[in-house]
Amino acid sequence: MSIELEDMLTRLRLTTICGRLETLLDEATRQDMTLRETLHFLCSEELITKNAQRIKMSLKMAKFPCDRTLEQFDFSAQPTIDHKQINDLSLCRWVAHGDSMLLLGPPGVGKTHLAIALGREAILRGYSALFTTATSLMTTLAGGHRRGNLDKELAYYSKPKLLIIDEMGYLPFEPSAAHLFFQLVSRRYEKGSILITGNRPVGEWDQVFGDGVVATAILDRLLHHSHVITIKGESYRLKEKKRSGILQTKVNKEQ
Ligand code: ADP
Ligand code: MG
Repeated sequence: MSIELEDMLTRLRLTTICGRLETLLDEATRQDMTLRETLHFLCSEELITKNAQRIKMSLKMAKFPCDRTLEQFDFSAQPTIDHKQINDLSLCRWVAHGDSMLLLGPPGVGKTHLAIALGREAILRGYSALFTTATSLMTTLAGGHRRGNLDKELAYYSKPKLLIIDEMGYLPFEPSAAHLFFQLVSRRYEKGSILITGNRPVGEWDQVFGDGVVATAILDRLLHHSHVITIKGESYRLKEKKRSGILQTKVNKEQ
C-alpha cells in the first residue's frame, strides 16, 4: 500500500513542508538545487516555522506582565549596571548551568525590566521560562499546602528551566511560607535557574522570610552558583520626570 507524500509529511509532523510543498519545490527548481540542497532547504524552512511557533508559545507560557527587551534598556541611565555583564548574561550560559541570579535595588531602577528581558533572551535561546511575583508564588504554594496538593504546585514551578520571581521582600512572608519556598528552591537546586528581583539586600532576608534558619538554608542554595547584581541609583521614571521638569524650566526661561 503506497502512502501519499502529503500524508507521510503530516504523519512526520512536517507541516510547513506539507503546506507549502509545491511552492518550495518550485523554488528549489528555480534555483537549480541538487537533491541534497533541496532536502536542506525544505528542512530549514520547517525548522524556521517550528522555532517561531515555539518562541510564540513559550512567551505565552512565561506569563510576562509586559514586553520588555534589552534593546529598550537605557544603560546610560543606570551607570551601576555593567552593560558588558548583562550582555554576557543574555547569552544564557547561567541558565544552561542552572545558576541563580539576584537583581537587587530600590524601586524603579529597572529590575523587572531586566528580568523580563533576560527571560525573553532565555526563550529565544530555546529554554522555557515562567514569571511570577513573590506574593503570587507564596499564595499559590500556601493554597496548595492547605488543599493537600502542594506537590502539584511545586511541580508547576519546578518545570520551567528559568523561574523568575519578582518583588521579593516588598511584603514579609509567613514563616510557614518560607518553608514552602525552601522546598521549591531545593527542588530546583542545580537543575533549573531562579532569577529573583528584590529591594532588600540578602543580609535582610531573615526578616523577609521571618525565620533566620530557613533564610540561611534558602540563601545557601541560591548563592552557591549565582550572579548577584545590585543596582544603586534613582528610579528611571522619577529621573524622566525630573528631566522633563528641567526642560520645562529651560523653556520657561527662554520665553
Ligand atoms: P523596578 O522593577 O526596579 O521597580 P521597573 O523595571 O519596573 O523597575 O522599571 C520601571 C519602568 O521604567 C518600566 O516601565 C521600565 O521599562 C522603565 N525603565 C527602568 N529603567 C529603565 C532603563 N534604564 N531604560 C529604559 N527603561 C527603563
Ligand atoms: Mg519591579
